[in-house]
Amino acid sequence: MIPTQDTKKTSLPYGRVFNFSAGPGALPLEVLEEAKEDFLNYKGTGTSVLEMSHRGKDYDAIHMEALSNLRKLMSIPDDWGVLMLQGGASLQNAMVPMNLKMDGKMPNYIDTGNWGNASMKDAMLLGPLHVAYTSEPMNFDRAPSDNEPNLTSDASYVYYTSNETVQGVDYMRDAKFTTDALIVCDASSNILSRAFDLNKYDVIFAGAQKNQGPAGVCTVILSPRALEVASKQNLPLMLSWTKAHKAHSIHNTPPCFSIYLCGLYYKWLLNKGGVSSIAPINERKAGYVYSAIDNSGGFYTGHAVKENRSLMNITFKTVSEELDKKFIKEAEAIGMTTLAGHRSVGGIRASMYNAFPEEGCKLIAEFMKEFANKNG
Ligand SMILES: *Cc1c(COP(=O)(O)O)cnc(C)c1O
Repeated sequence: MIPTQDTKKTSLPYGRVFNFSAGPGALPLEVLEEAKEDFLNYKGTGTSVLEMSHRGKDYDAIHMEALSNLRKLMSIPDDWGVLMLQGGASLQNAMVPMNLKMDGKMPNYIDTGNWGNASMKDAMLLGPLHVAYTSEPMNFDRAPSDNEPNLTSDASYVYYTSNETVQGVDYMRDAKFTTDALIVCDASSNILSRAFDLNKYDVIFAGAQKNQGPAGVCTVILSPRALEVASKQNLPLMLSWTKAHKAHSIHNTPPCFSIYLCGLYYKWLLNKGGVSSIAPINERKAGYVYSAIDNSGGFYTGHAVKENRSLMNITFKTVSEELDKKFIKEAEAIGMTTLAGHRSVGGIRASMYNAFPEEGCKLIAEFMKEFANKNG
């Protein structure tokens, strides 16, 4: 049964809950309200964005503004590419090796959890690769330091996941591996949560449904070096970065409504002052929960080692599986939902992306203290 406004009482309008979902994640209320306002008749055009031709001038303006606002937010230079593709972040697991294929060179992968692992599995179907680092023996609780991965000298690209969404493990920096190879980063769950220094990347891709908008779009950011390598491949339309880049990602019908919502999100974030303003807020928000873990006298344990604690996905456990379940159930009863850990790791996961309200972070931290006192 869908809960009614009366069953879960929070301080939020419209009977909304504190949604700790890892993805699709909570969107800013202002974005949803603006979309609602525009829904039936977009700014006097007489049509919904859902019904517009993707070749018409109204959609074109929406599309180009979204791309340009993402450029602003991440300070992406003009000679870099910004794509909005379908197929989610998961399709990039195949598109990366296809578009960056180099004869006689070998992709190097860094495996820090579920997503790094998934990307290796797909890349392996397309050719040999080298696993330069894996934190599997440590139960995926950390990211490597810059010098730790055992990179090959013939590396075509080095691939890593800046924030492992399932494990809650974040590099907490722009990694600077000792290599001249292209650097590819899956930043699905921490893009726009802090500044990224583009000098240290060639490809950054991110499914939108974590920290940019709804599902249906994956943004792909490409350096001139990456564009150059991709331009040498001969790939089908929907698998080619180059073909998408030349057509500003309108090489076929794009997911217009999802891109429109990403555009509203980018505007929302620009109005908040951009990534440099949201980054300290994200630190503060995660701080409430990590303090509750650290001050619980061992009742809660965090999954990630301290230097790799994600600000976006906080993973922890109580002292038993029974109490984890009780925690999730009691939190849900007061309007804090989707706190169960990923099915592969269990425990509790609180995802708190840019749009997640700070009030909800304070509330869960308070709840954690009370729950530990009652059950510890
Ligand atoms: C969610 C996620 C993915 C997969 O995204 P899809 O859009 O569902 O394909 C890949 N990588 C990371 C880091 C993620 O968080």
